Amino acid sequence: EKPAAVRDTAIFDLIDRERDRQLHGLELIASENFTSAAVREAQGSVLTNKYAEGYPGKRWYGGCEVVDQVEQLAIDRVKELFGAAWANVQPHSGSSANLAVYNALIEPGDTVLGMDLSHGGHLTHGNPVNFSGLRYHIVGYKVNPETELIDMDEVRRLAHEHRPKMIIAGASAYSRTIDFAAFRAIADEVGAILFADVAHIAGLIAGGVHPNALPHAHVVASTTHKTLRGPRGGIILSNDPEIGAKLDRAVFPGYQGGPLEHVIAAKAVAFGEALRPEFRTYAAQIIANAQALANAFQNLGYRVVSGGTDNHLFVLDLRPQGLNGTKATRRLDASHITISKSTLPYDTEKILHGGGIRIGTPAVTTRGMKESDMPRIADLIDRALKEQDVKAEVHAFAGGFPLP
Ligand code: PLP
Repeated sequence: EKPAAVRDTAIFDLIDRERDRQLHGLELIASENFTSAAVREAQGSVLTNKYAEGYPGKRWYGGCEVVDQVEQLAIDRVKELFGAAWANVQPHSGSSANLAVYNALIEPGDTVLGMDLSHGGHLTHGNPVNFSGLRYHIVGYKVNPETELIDMDEVRRLAHEHRPKMIIAGASAYSRTIDFAAFRAIADEVGAILFADVAHIAGLIAGGVHPNALPHAHVVASTTHKTLRGPRGGIILSNDPEIGAKLDRAVFPGYQGGPLEHVIAAKAVAFGEALRPEFRTYAAQIIANAQALANAFQNLGYRVVSGGTDNHLFVLDLRPQGLNGTKATRRLDASHITISKSTLPYDTEKILHGGGIRIGTPAVTTRGMKESDMPRIADLIDRALKEQDVKAEVHAFAGGFPLP
């Protein structure tokens, strides 16, 4: 009998095409990365065959003696990585981790203070069509119009005015260091829970190049697939075992059934990789690259929101170039450069298009690119935005850096 990959050519040909796309293109989507072969092998393993509702040692199914050890290893490693007293590694995604946090800790109708979405917050921080916006009373804090930085005085003012049950610190498109200690001080003043959503910066925290949220936040949630470079998935952390027990119940049986033990195994592999010293070098290089790239754009006359970056990403304001996010994405796609469109703080473009693009360096850094490669990337993007076809140059340049 032929192997499945040969029989199901429809799917496996598409997978080959996607591998080629990833190999030849320039991947600058701030939330994407390239996993190691070991992460992919664990995720593609026989562990996908196993049902394991419950938690290690407390399952509803027989035959869990092996997956119990897999999940326990994932828990132990992620606790060590972030200095957490408690962890849940079962959420299927970042959004479902966040759903568990809301379900466990607050009631429908409660007030939540989170970052305004057009200023860098995530869908699950209060978008009107998301469960968060539908079910809770959301108040958004904005960045300062001049500095484009989170204005902690404004966060404090809003917290005192609205007395939220929960404050969310964390963003999808914010290029500056988040001051979790300052957020906690404000949360304590109004008796709110501080929820840190570190989905974007988890790998930077793990690599020791962004302050850890955990000593300050009551609860921390994250994805595992962005800077942390694991499989697609979510995690929740806390230092408070009582909060942890509520969160465990909120995940299972709260809204999930069987955990994805193959994905949990892949998470464990990624946590193991992130615990190694090389990961610190990687995390520092992500930031060095983002700063070099932002600089290169400024040298070409582009405006970088907030004037630069402290982390893995930055947002370019393309309105001065007469472009918006949608047009820019289309032009860059034509040359196989992938980015995501982005709204700007106090944007004047329609939300659908956004006035700019978000650019991130986690993926190109995994491929081995360094600061000295960043001016080349800025030049390729600049010319693609001017509708030059730079596809062949992109292929030749990207092809020089191996995929893991
Ligand atoms: N939280 C933040 C800050 C994010 O940026 C994202 C992903 O974009 C998520 C949560 C949700 O993650 P997922 O796409 O896995 O649901």
